[in-house]
Amino acid sequence: MTRTRNEFIARHIGPRAADTAAMLELLGYDDLEALTASVIPDSIKGSSVLGDSDGQGEAEALAAIKAIAAKNQLFTSYIGQGYYGTHTPAPILRNLLENPAWYTAYTPYQPEISQGRLEALLNFQTLISDLSGLPIANASLLDEGTAAAEAMTFCKRLAKNKASNAFFASQHCHPQTLDILRTRAEPLGIEVVVGDEREIGDAGAYFGALLQYPASNGDIFDYRALVERLHAAGALVAVAADLLALCLLTPPGEFGADVAIGSAQRFGVPLGFGGPHAAYFATRDNFKRDMPGRLVGVSLDRFGKPALRLAMQTREQHIRREKATSNICTAQVLLANIASMFAVYHGPQGLTAIARRVHQLTAVLAQGLAKLGHKVEQQHFFDTLSLHTGAQTAELHARARALRINLREIDAERLGLSLDETTTPEQVEALWALFAGEQAVPSFDSLLAQVASRLPEGLLRQSAILAHPVFNRYHSETELMRYLRKLADKDLALDRSMIPLGSCTMKLNAASEMIPVTWAEFGNLHPFAPAEQSQGYAELTSELEAMLCAATGYDAVSLQPNAGSQGEYAGLLAIRAYHHSRGDDQRDICLIPQSAHGTNPATASMVGMRVVVTACDERGNVDIADLRAKAEEHSERLAAIMITYPSTHGVFEEGIREICEIIHANGGQVYIDGANMNAMVGLCAPGQFGGDVSHLNLHKTFCIPHGGGGPGVGPIGVKAHLAPFLPGHAGLARKEGAVSAAPFGSASILPITWMYIRMMGGKGLRRATQMAILNANYIARRLEEHFPVLYSGDNGLVAHECILDLRPLKETSGIGVDDVAKRLIDFGFHAPTMSFPVAGTLMVEPTESESKEELDRFCDAMIAIREEIRAVEQGRLDKDDNPLKNAPHTAAELVGEWRHGYSREQAVYPLASLVEAKYWPPVGRVDNVFGDRNLVCACPSIEAYQDA
Ligand SMILES: *Cc1c(COP(=O)(O)O)cnc(C)c1O
Repeated sequence: MTRTRNEFIARHIGPRAADTAAMLELLGYDDLEALTASVIPDSIKGSSVLGDSDGQGEAEALAAIKAIAAKNQLFTSYIGQGYYGTHTPAPILRNLLENPAWYTAYTPYQPEISQGRLEALLNFQTLISDLSGLPIANASLLDEGTAAAEAMTFCKRLAKNKASNAFFASQHCHPQTLDILRTRAEPLGIEVVVGDEREIGDAGAYFGALLQYPASNGDIFDYRALVERLHAAGALVAVAADLLALCLLTPPGEFGADVAIGSAQRFGVPLGFGGPHAAYFATRDNFKRDMPGRLVGVSLDRFGKPALRLAMQTREQHIRREKATSNICTAQVLLANIASMFAVYHGPQGLTAIARRVHQLTAVLAQGLAKLGHKVEQQHFFDTLSLHTGAQTAELHARARALRINLREIDAERLGLSLDETTTPEQVEALWALFAGEQAVPSFDSLLAQVASRLPEGLLRQSAILAHPVFNRYHSETELMRYLRKLADKDLALDRSMIPLGSCTMKLNAASEMIPVTWAEFGNLHPFAPAEQSQGYAELTSELEAMLCAATGYDAVSLQPNAGSQGEYAGLLAIRAYHHSRGDDQRDICLIPQSAHGTNPATASMVGMRVVVTACDERGNVDIADLRAKAEEHSERLAAIMITYPSTHGVFEEGIREICEIIHANGGQVYIDGANMNAMVGLCAPGQFGGDVSHLNLHKTFCIPHGGGGPGVGPIGVKAHLAPFLPGHAGLARKEGAVSAAPFGSASILPITWMYIRMMGGKGLRRATQMAILNANYIARRLEEHFPVLYSGDNGLVAHECILDLRPLKETSGIGVDDVAKRLIDFGFHAPTMSFPVAGTLMVEPTESESKEELDRFCDAMIAIREEIRAVEQGRLDKDDNPLKNAPHTAAELVGEWRHGYSREQAVYPLASLVEAKYWPPVGRVDNVFGDRNLVCACPSIEAYQDA
């Protein structure tokens, strides 16, 4: 008998022992050690400091994390400040948040296999557009604070007042939002002026302004005159608005705002100690091309049927690079979808009823407090009150804590109270008891009868919300359950097949990793709850930081950035602050190899750095001579290099140590983009071979699911000299430099990575890396005679992914990467990464989680596709009418009149094995150009619906 049983490593890793042996044999290696010894360059071999600890079995690890969770204490929270209690409807919890069909999907770049989540996102956009009163809304940003920062730079780009560098931010904004604005403004030379908007003075001094509606302390101000003044002075106005309040209040779009931003958290998304939550961003139609973030639009498919896809990608970092509207890549799709389904389930009447009830409870609370001699500071409010409690304040907080209640600590003399959907009349009475002292506590029912609305008469919402049928037909649980199932069935996620996306690491998101995420002990904690209540999170985050230090070889880690792009931003800020601390203020040049991911140049420009692109050689490696020349040329001003390792071409470059040395010798810092960490964990460590800072994508290497395009976590690891410059937060030791609204960003999904590392142990993680390398090389070897593998190391091996070069086929057959990607859908596969980092290629990353059977199924599909291309080359298939150009084939097409020069069987069952398990795409190939020219990005109007 063994003392502990850990089956997890073998559950996580796809290939069995016999498969591994067979794959190694094909590659000509005796064992995994020999293979990886050959792949990893000598100069960095042995740099890993991970160690070889054992992992822990699933049951044991779950028990261990349960014990950690139990150290979090769940008090009733009235803290508010952008985070509110909410009831996640049970069918949404079970059928969406906890459903792998939703959470294991990738960002919907391949629209034909993503119609379900695209529809859910279109519903989100419609919801936001309706509630905010602005016609264009995106499909989510990362949190309210960063959305406000995006709004600030958006105003800077678009305002008529070009002379000003000052942005006005109301003192009534949430404090964490103001912190992020300051962080973001400083490197860009923007001055953030925080003040009382009622005394704004010369509006012409500003290019833009941010107002909060309702204000952070609860007031509801009428901003109409102010907006007019700002507009007259050439400034734009952004309003951070609460979605639930907007059900009852005149929306920002109707009082002249140019932008509305905010959080969709209280629409069914757990507090989660700060995240992940979806933020929204809505604007006027004429500004749409400058909007940050992803946008879903309606287009047509090959048959002229409506089909959804991501619109206007020409704004985004992967196309515009340092000129992009923002560096956002991963957003918050899963959470946006939860919020959209919350609205679908409750409908306009349900949402309005929730909003009314919250307001009524608050009005009754205010009335009772007044009776007890505590006058609330607001005349008008929605759900939040502030009280001047003077010398009693500390004592009131202490009494509240004793009753397991948290009030907001506004300052030493004032406290705040925010109610929400979960508040009950009994809780209101308990609050009165807290403030009553010796007095009798009023009865809720008696006050309820006397209380009138405290919303301002002149700002009551007149326009209807959510008239679209989708918000009016799924109100029974049966209907909602089936709607969610119908949408999920349209999509390909990891629960159906391998998603071989290079650079994205679509590995297993194990159920044991996911289970703790929806425990109340992690889900129901407010991010600003007193530290003694979040001891479980403190333990989890400090352990996870240590685990990630061991995996990367860095000295310190910040978990705050909530996507890879945000990690890049935090990392470059740390580099910048380090240079400044040494008086090197002039260091502002960032070298970026031409093969870099688009977020790299986009991020560099957000910290005010100038991007200098360096060349790659014909083997895809960084051209060291060119790099050296540029580093020397700019040595006075060199700030950093951003380099991905192993390279974006999927190769362990031999020269990495030398590259790091060149940069250091010229006074720069080395940023190693760690998105490809899956090739390194346990084998080599960026913090040990020359990196000063890296971000990791926990939603790639460390098992957080992609959620259909978010959430993510992008922690950064740094060497000790950069540790003082890691992101701060009002709730952390370092108070400034926040990059996310919450101190630990998307805290509630950190248990996923903790569980993964705990269950794998050092040994299992190292083995996973080796298997990821084996799987990638197996695919490369099986496919290389059919499609040339573009880059490999001196040993003929790739790292954890490989690039298949399809460019020659375009010339011989007219078939391009798009055609192959779409044809793979007919075979039941999600396409590999298309045209990144090299146009006309496919980049395949299988990960360690895929079994040999699945790898073979994919290779067989690719080989069958190559045969079809050969038929086109040889004229056996028509060069325009062939299964590749017409892919994907829908069921509707099959039952119609068949006019193609190949059979129905070849169209939909090109391999016999497909008969048993066939994925049917709901639409044919989607026309992107049409959709961008005729932009529609909300659910079709009622009229269009009725016509159809
Ligand atoms: C995925 C990726 C990023 C960006 O990460 P997000 O979480 O999507 O912001 C950056 N660099 C590389 C190389 C990546 O693959």
